Amino acid sequence: MIMERPQADLLVRGARLLTLAPFRTEQPRVGPAAGDVGAIDDGWVAARDGAILGTGHGDGWQQYELTAGAVERQVAGRVVMPGLVDPHTHLCYAGERWDEFTTRHSGADYLAVLERGGGIHATVRATREASDETLLALTRARLARAVSLGTTTIEIKSGYGLDPDEELRQLRLIARIRTEAAIDVAVTYLALHAMPRGIERRDFLKAAEAMVGTVAAEHLAEAVDGFIEKGVFEPEDARPVMKAAQAAGLAVTMHADQLHDVNAAAFAARLQARSADHLANVSADGMRVLARIGHTVAVLLPGSAFFVGYAPPDARRFLAARVPVAIATDHNPGTSPLEGMPAAIALAVTLCHLTPHEAIVAATINAAHALGRGQRTGALVVGRRADLLILETDDERDLCYRLGAPLVREVYAGGRRVA
Ligand SMILES: [Zn+2]
Repeated sequence: MIMERPQADLLVRGARLLTLAPFRTEQPRVGPAAGDVGAIDDGWVAARDGAILGTGHGDGWQQYELTAGAVERQVAGRVVMPGLVDPHTHLCYAGERWDEFTTRHSGADYLAVLERGGGIHATVRATREASDETLLALTRARLARAVSLGTTTIEIKSGYGLDPDEELRQLRLIARIRTEAAIDVAVTYLALHAMPRGIERRDFLKAAEAMVGTVAAEHLAEAVDGFIEKGVFEPEDARPVMKAAQAAGLAVTMHADQLHDVNAAAFAARLQARSADHLANVSADGMRVLARIGHTVAVLLPGSAFFVGYAPPDARRFLAARVPVAIATDHNPGTSPLEGMPAAIALAVTLCHLTPHEAIVAATINAAHALGRGQRTGALVVGRRADLLILETDDERDLCYRLGAPLVREVYAGGRRVA
């Protein structure tokens, strides 16, 4: 009897392979695992129908037979690693904010700009005025650039509509992008971004709470977000909206303690939020609650600290408390116009003091956990989606060292080449 060999339709071999495989069970990485990229020299990864079949080193790949039309890559001298996961973006908007960019120098100024009807409000005006076609084209172009820079899973928030009808339009457009995209798109309804003009706070909060039901019924988003910040929305404003989201089966996430400590981290942790994002001003108490409850991933956004000019979050505090850390671009036209995860990785090392390997964990598997996808992507493990990158270097530390270098050579999502 002839034993048939398993068939692979994608084989990448001879690589410095970063598997990001878990020590034991899969969970957000803390402790020694927070800096372990699972490197294998002369490594290979095989996939079939978009899922990983196996990884190993040397000539172990010979156990597979290649299908007709299989992609086989010999990549000696290159790093192969999981595709990057960007768990926090505001990709769907119209209008750039160059004037504000050139005049703003501090975090406090950002709230002053907002107060005067600039900031988010400027983007809200431009986005409302843009047609569906224009918004789709702008968002598709930004998504394509993210993919070319190695992103294979991305979160996209609404939030530039503010009033419920306009939010609904933007969510439907993002949902369309999700359907057609070559990579995995996680949609979030940013219910509480800023107070729109000409409406009572109480009425706005009620309308946002009601919208959560529509969003869940139409499957427009998988999570609900709020900007919990001094003078914007306090935890008590957000509670009914977040509770409504959870009652409707949606995850919750929050912009928390970015510019001021408003106890948003503890609020997010107690609600079992999927992630708490920014956290540049999280208090010692907030950190303790995050660590004690242990469910919420801290998503640090160094691009925003870099562009706005406030003190970035110190990742060492989170790691010391064993709070899992992820990073994201926070791509948006006002406070973080940076593109692509390699720049976020570099800034996370230089500004937030992650080691290069901790930044890679934060940009792959921990970012996947921040999106509730820790079992699906973020690591090269049997059965997961074949989301992987081939880098134009033999040392992954180049991602943070050679800032701005075009290091991402090939991008595969679900086993298919997408860039
Ligand atoms: Zn944001």
